Order: sequence, then structure tokens, then C-alpha cells
Amino acid sequence: MGRVLPTLKKRRAPLARAEEQRAWLARLRLPRSFEVSLASIDLLPLRPTRIETLQINVGKRCNQTCRHCHVDAGPDRFEVMPPEVVERCLEVLAQCDIPTIDITGGAPELHPQFREIVLRARRLGRRIINRCNLTVTLLPNYADLPLFFAEHRVELVCSLPHFRAKQTDTQRGAGVFDESIEALRRLNHLGYGRDASGLLLNLVANPVGAFLPPSQRLAERDWKHQLRSRYGIEFNRLYTITNMPIARFLEWLVDSGNLQDYMERLVNAFNPAAAEGVMCRDTLSVGWDGTLYDCDFNQMLELPVAGRPAQTIFDFDLEKLGRRPIVTGPHCYGCTAGAGSSCGGATVD
Ligand code: SF4
Ligand code: SF4
Repeated sequence: MGRVLPTLKKRRAPLARAEEQRAWLARLRLPRSFEVSLASIDLLPLRPTRIETLQINVGKRCNQTCRHCHVDAGPDRFEVMPPEVVERCLEVLAQCDIPTIDITGGAPELHPQFREIVLRARRLGRRIINRCNLTVTLLPNYADLPLFFAEHRVELVCSLPHFRAKQTDTQRGAGVFDESIEALRRLNHLGYGRDASGLLLNLVANPVGAFLPPSQRLAERDWKHQLRSRYGIEFNRLYTITNMPIARFLEWLVDSGNLQDYMERLVNAFNPAAAEGVMCRDTLSVGWDGTLYDCDFNQMLELPVAGRPAQTIFDFDLEKLGRRPIVTGPHCYGCTAGAGSSCGGATVD
């Protein structure tokens, strides 16, 4: 029996507004600003290389309410990408040669047009990445999703904070680990995560606390061994990501008094090679309402791409966007610390 989409008995306290989050970060006394660090390696202003991925955030509705969620997603969120924005995203994709569409949310599968987006992007011959929380595939009305993914060769990037139940449930809620394992078994059964099938199943792990992730390469080896020996689960790649100092994780850092120390840790671990490879250089992010952002994180801080008024997908001009200066801030240290961090995991591991 799948997990029923939960209705929250108590409404969560609203997340601090993006403006307030930006103010918390701006008030920090850091050894040097992100822009000074970029200038020291001749990367200021930061500009795109080539836009390879159109990442569309189709909304904030989710069947989970994870503690570290940078989107502040949950069952009580109402933001859903409207049909005209979906249509324009697909039109843009058809009109240019951006090879990859990356669908994210919330739980993207809960968007009423999710399957249509996949089908139409597939017809355009694009690589499709879907960011899946695993448990959504156990919801009663969504149990056929794994088959749909497989039929349309959707690459899955699935979040699982840890291969141990306790750590995962601490971040994601009681029982989420067991459901995630069940979802992974069903995906494996269809060929996902098995080398010969070509059906890619990548996992995303993030630290359960205010520290940097371990080496992605070593962690992947360990996770493969642990998930195979404990549960018979196979997967392709493990992406280790740094917790970004925004949204719920930022609130936790503030509440627990860890913000200054965590940010200093990120600043002191600034890695020039990771800065070269930050994902905003080859990805463009579209918010649920069509606003364009340099990345999903800037989206959560309500920092649209440079220029006024804020540009939307309806103003899309690939050539101009390819020359834009990327909007940066202290939170960007989350992408450049240690081995780097992006939606595809470490950038220099
Ligand atoms: S982290 Fe992912 S699964 Fe968890 S609440 Fe946010 S969008 Fe949903
Ligand atoms: S937070 Fe966004 S804009 Fe800043 S470095 Fe990371 S990807 Fe680029």
C-alpha cells in the first residue's frame, strides 16, 4: 500500500521571506566576499560557458516536507507552473538546441502536465532528467510512474540522504527510508540502475548537518556496497551535494547558532577549480511562474537573472542569456567549497 499524500494537521511556520534570508547572509562577517574570491581567479563577472540544460521548476508541491529542503516544498504549497508557462518552456526547447531538460520541483510528478512535458521533450529528442523523491512513486495514483519513466528513457536523480534509515528519516520524516528502498526495488526491477539497461538511476546524498560532504568517489563506492549488501539495491552514480545556506537549512543554521561557523567553513574551503565548474555556467533555471534565474538556489532567494525588469521565459533570448553576468552572493560559496557542488554532484571530485 502506498503512502497517502499527507495533509498537514498543523500548518508549518512560514519560511523567512527571501528578502530576510538575503539579509541574514549579507550581515555575516566573512573573511572575503564571494565576488572577491571570484576576482582573485579572474572569474568576475561570472559568465556562462554554454547553456546545456534548461532546468524547469514546475512547482513547490511535494508529498514530503524534508528538513533540509531548499525549496520549502510540501503538500500545503500551491505554486504550480501554469499551462502557458509550460507551453512556452516547450516552445523554447523546440526553438533552440539546448540538449537537456531537467525537471524539478517540489515533486515534479505531482504537476498535472508532468507526463505531457516528458512526452513532448522526448519527441524533441532531448535528454530528460527528472528529480524524483522516490516516495512519490508509491502514492496510489502514481504507482505506474516507474514504467512511464522506463518507457520514455527518463534519467532519474533520486534523493536519499543516507543508506541508513535513521539518518534519512531524521531529514525526511518517519518511514521515508523504508518507502524509498521499496521504490528503488521497483525501479531496479524495471532495469533502472543496472548497467546494461541504459536506464540511469543516480542518487543524491547530502550531509545530515553543518559540514561538507565526503569525497563523492569514495562515498559512491561505500554506498554501492552498503545498498547492495543490505537491500540488494543497484544504482549508477552517487551525487554528493553540499547543503546550501538557504531556505529551511538556512533557518536551521540560524536557529542552531551554526550560520557563521558554517559559512566560514565554506569560505575557507573555496576551490578555484570548483568555481570554474559551477552549474549556473551551463544551466538556466525557470521558476514555476516563468521567471528566469541563474540557478535553482538564486530562485529560492528570489534573485532573478541580471537586468530589469525581471526576465521571464517569454523574453527568452539564448544569445543574450549566454552573455549575461551571473548574479552571485555569499550562498554561492556552497557551490565552490571542497570538491564543489551542483545538481549533478561534486564538480571536481
Ligand atoms: S527536499 Fe525534495 S522531497 Fe523533500 S520536501 Fe523538498 S522537494 Fe520535497
Ligand atoms: S548558487 Fe547559483 S549562482 Fe551561485 S555559484 Fe551556485 S549555481 Fe552559481
